Amino acid sequence: MSSLDEIFNPLLSLIQKASFDARGKSIAKRKTRNPNLPSSKWVSDSRIGSDMGKSLAIVLNTIGCSHARSDIGGCTMCSYLLDGSNVIISSDQLQNQFDEAFRSLSDKDGPLAVKLYTSGSFLDSEEVPDEARQHILTRIADDDRIREVIIESRPEYVTESRMNELRSMLADRHIELGIGIESMNDKIRTICINKGFSTDDFIHAVDVAKAERIGVRAYVLLKPPFLTERDALTDAKRTINEVVEIGATTVSINPINIQKDTLVEFLWNRGVYRPPWLWSIVDLLLETRVSVSDDINIICDPVAAGKSRGSHNCGVCDGEIIQGIKKFSMNQDIRILSSLSCQCKETWKHVLSHEDVTLQTHRDLIIDY
Ligand code: SF4
Ligand SMILES: [Zn+2]
Repeated sequence: MSSLDEIFNPLLSLIQKASFDARGKSIAKRKTRNPNLPSSKWVSDSRIGSDMGKSLAIVLNTIGCSHARSDIGGCTMCSYLLDGSNVIISSDQLQNQFDEAFRSLSDKDGPLAVKLYTSGSFLDSEEVPDEARQHILTRIADDDRIREVIIESRPEYVTESRMNELRSMLADRHIELGIGIESMNDKIRTICINKGFSTDDFIHAVDVAKAERIGVRAYVLLKPPFLTERDALTDAKRTINEVVEIGATTVSINPINIQKDTLVEFLWNRGVYRPPWLWSIVDLLLETRVSVSDDINIICDPVAAGKSRGSHNCGVCDGEIIQGIKKFSMNQDIRILSSLSCQCKETWKHVLSHEDVTLQTHRDLIIDY
């Protein structure tokens, strides 16, 4: 064992224990939902290729992410398990959920996009049985208005046979796979996020998808716990440049928001974690929009922005900055962001250069957990 492993392995065990304990509370709190209805669905205006159209987002009600249900407790910031079901959902029930949500598109003109989310991985047949997955893909394939399909999955379920199935059933539609790489740094992804897969796993998934002309939407986390604002920003910039080099076709930035019963909430409650500044998002978008090729969209729709549980600034400028980030995500025009200003930008700059929250501080805290 190397000396670095001697430091990291015990720390990882502590992180996994704390994540597991937080997750345990989530499982106990899960509600009993109607298994024939999706957790949620919504239709919104959306850019589809170079045209404007409508997209239907469906969150299927499944048993939830295999990683979150595992003995290592899931990711440090994620409470998606709370959205899942406390009982096994049958294939028929999942098909009913999809059919119910799909009716929302019955009166809509094309072009359309369908986004298939679960509280985990659409391609995991434990969450979405093969029969249900094939029913859903067949219904999409039969609808000529649908031009684009977005699916989310952890990389371990991105196999050649699954990619081949997607491509052959959905023909020449634009397909994108959302994968939460979060950070390209293995240590950060492992220790700060407890993600449970390696950079090599992600690279392999991108290659397997590419072979079937399936794009990858890389989710990049802004400000994992145990990093300063400056280090988190540096890591996110590096991650975005690297995922694009590997072959990601879209980058979606996810600034942390404080979700219930997570390790991140535990730290936040004790005043040792703050969600990222909106200025950090602006800086990240401005810099990477210039460094990354124009044909790669960089988008961000920060959850709970402007609130204490989400990315926020001083409270005065938050609304304007959030609007700027949303507009930029639609049209990729950096002028919207470069013209933003507020006095609190100086405070943010001060934080970047002076914040010195050490890993050791948090480590002591988790030992007390
Ligand atoms: S972030 Fe994704 S992989 Fe991690 S626990 Fe949540 S759903 Fe699972
Ligand atoms: Zn401000």
